[in-house]
Amino acid sequence: MKINKNFIPYNKPFFAHESLNFIKDAISKKTIASDGFYTKKCQKFFADKFNFQNTFLTPSCTASLEMAALLANISEGDEVIVPSYTFTSSANAFVLRGAKIKFADSNIYNPNIDPSEIEKLITNKTKAIVIVHYAGIACDMNAIKLITKKFGLLLIEDCAHAINSYFYGKPLGSFGDLSCFSFHDTKNISSGEGGLLVINNKRFLNRAEIIREKGTNRAAFFRGEINKYSWVDIGSSFLCSEITSAYLYGQLCNFDKIQEKRVKIFDYYYSKLKKKSIYKSGLFELPNIINLENRNGHIFYIILKSGKVRDQLIIFLRENNVQAISHYISLHSSKFYIKEHGSRPLKNADKYTNCLLRLPLYPNLKLNEVNKIINLIEKFFKDSKS
Ligand SMILES: *Cc1c(COP(=O)(O)O)cnc(C)c1O
Repeated sequence: MKINKNFIPYNKPFFAHESLNFIKDAISKKTIASDGFYTKKCQKFFADKFNFQNTFLTPSCTASLEMAALLANISEGDEVIVPSYTFTSSANAFVLRGAKIKFADSNIYNPNIDPSEIEKLITNKTKAIVIVHYAGIACDMNAIKLITKKFGLLLIEDCAHAINSYFYGKPLGSFGDLSCFSFHDTKNISSGEGGLLVINNKRFLNRAEIIREKGTNRAAFFRGEINKYSWVDIGSSFLCSEITSAYLYGQLCNFDKIQEKRVKIFDYYYSKLKKKSIYKSGLFELPNIINLENRNGHIFYIILKSGKVRDQLIIFLRENNVQAISHYISLHSSKFYIKEHGSRPLKNADKYTNCLLRLPLYPNLKLNEVNKIINLIEKFFKDSKS
């Protein structure tokens, strides 16, 4: 099929013109490696906006998760509980350290981890629980915090979708001992590749500096606290170049604008679809938003009645110049982990694997384009009835 000017892609990353000037400025400062002017500017933004006091920009959310796994001291034989309906990195970071992953099912009402499933998976080998706020819609943090307290487990938040989302007034990313954000091109705020590690549990702070600097105490050396730096622990390079930070800072200067546009589109889809007879007659489900602040316009999805209908709708939309896409193939049924996981069924995760459909959503998507998409969905159901 030819791509023409009417084609509506799934995603178009927002471009901030400020980024170009900031990159030029970063280069003119002649220190583009890491932890310079723009890295500090970005980190300060997150402190001011979300009260994240201890943050590190990283190369990606994947890198942040790998740092979290190192900080949690995950080692051979430890168990980590992870939702199955997520991106590979949420589990892979811990598998790299030798952990066994115990996959938990999603809620029946949304793709987030079902807290009542977590407790059943806890053993004396369990070290940590990873949660993912799917589509930027908060997990049930009251239930999850009760469990981590009761069993003394570390909580790691994969906040790749969750920037600027809240759970009853508290920003997502402030619940976990460690929280990981993504600035990949597909996320709300993007620098191509990029990530953030938020440290809420201060006992990890010193070691995070060292792990991020290839296992050396270089950060303390630069603060003048020691007169030589050397190899003191394991580590890797989890630093973010000033060029990337400068690009990211351009995005952060447009933070509220990007968010307003995304949420407006999300709400438009939601309110229009909710009124349609195709919705009222139960042909699909809408995202379950319990609390209105519980959305950041990251993903707008619908859930069809079967995998077959979902796949037919993808084809129909594609034939009409709209790119709508499925999402995760649950990790418990992935080629890499299915043998290790065994046959324990995860019914809800399977449902989202087969039936969830993501509709186009990006800041410059026009409301008349959203109308076109909604009309096409309506037409699809009317055509398939006749
Ligand atoms: C995108 C994503 C990641 C990985 O982010 P990167 O910055 O590309 O490493 C991890 N977890 C989830 C849930 C994601 O959606």
